[in-house]
Amino acid sequence: MKKADGNSSIYVTQPVLPPLEEFMPYLEKIWANKILTNSGPFHHELEQALCDYLGVKHLCLFANATIALITALQSLRINGEVITTPYSFVATAHSLLWNGIKPVFVDIDPLTFNLDPGKIEAAITPQTSAIMPVHCYGRPCDVDRIQKIADNYGLKLIYDAAHAFGVQYRGDSLLNCGDMSILSFHATKVFNTFEGGAIVCPDLKTKQHIDHLKNFGFVDEVTVVAPGINGKMSEFNAALGLLQLKEIDAVLEARQKIATQYRQKLENVSGITCIHDIADTKPNNSYFPILVEADYVMSRDALFQKLREHEIYARRYFYPLISDFPMYRGLVSAAHSNLPVAREIASKVICLPIYPGLSEEELDRVIDLIVC
Ligand SMILES: *Cc1c(COP(=O)(O)O)cnc(C)c1O
Repeated sequence: MKKADGNSSIYVTQPVLPPLEEFMPYLEKIWANKILTNSGPFHHELEQALCDYLGVKHLCLFANATIALITALQSLRINGEVITTPYSFVATAHSLLWNGIKPVFVDIDPLTFNLDPGKIEAAITPQTSAIMPVHCYGRPCDVDRIQKIADNYGLKLIYDAAHAFGVQYRGDSLLNCGDMSILSFHATKVFNTFEGGAIVCPDLKTKQHIDHLKNFGFVDEVTVVAPGINGKMSEFNAALGLLQLKEIDAVLEARQKIATQYRQKLENVSGITCIHDIADTKPNNSYFPILVEADYVMSRDALFQKLREHEIYARRYFYPLISDFPMYRGLVSAAHSNLPVAREIASKVICLPIYPGLSEEELDRVIDLIVC
């Protein structure tokens, strides 16, 4: 929307789309072969292409990441209690409630904003069956320490990797950590298939079981082995994914450039803290969070409002904390005193617009409003 002053609205993100004419041949194929879903040719091709691109062994496509999270928990037969982070998108904890599992919130690390490994053990009880951390903003969790705790206590480890598409850690895909990782291909994510998601898993047997679960539990025409769900990705979404994958390196590069400019121009603004990349990581810059500290010229919410008044729709990811929503706040682990770091970060954070289509002028509009 162009305004009288020539400025248009800037959102926290804008989906990447291929040229429409490039999508047409894919649609023509679908119209010709009449295969719309149920593990069709594009679905198969995208699973292989994503395994190759991401550097993972097995991947199961889904209609979205929320159903993928729910199914991942089902496939590992997780029950009782699961340790997770309050500093995430609600779907992380919702996937536990949908399985009748009790979320146990553990505080986050003040530098990584990921689950604090030093606080996990104290939250383990005889009912604990798994840990579900989030690679928040695509920045790796302390995967070694968390894995060690999971191994010592015999717990499963499921990463919500919805932010972590394409992230490399110590020369390997971050998605190879833990028992499973879940990706989101929602419109707002780094790589989108309109809606979509995936489970990354280490072996073929697990993949086959998950493929059954996402198709109502069908193993063959007459055999149903579990109360599975309909979590399948359609051929339409898979075809789009194949096309999107061709441009993903350019997308990641464009994001890197914007992040570098934000850092250069905001780093020395007093009261603004930029978040740094974690060592040995090839980041995806899926978000650009800043912290508005007490010595900034105005409060976080005042800056948020000021940006809105100039039609810049930054977002307070993640505020409120998941543990503050009505279906969670009654839990003992949701108590304010249990989550001091998460509360502090949630009160300071703003995620600034970052996406390949963000122009230099638009970037400067955002920066100028924060600098003065
Ligand atoms: C986006 C997101 C999800 C949900 O993904 P959908 O594909 O929209 O279901 C889950 N967890 C996190 C951390 C997310 O950011």
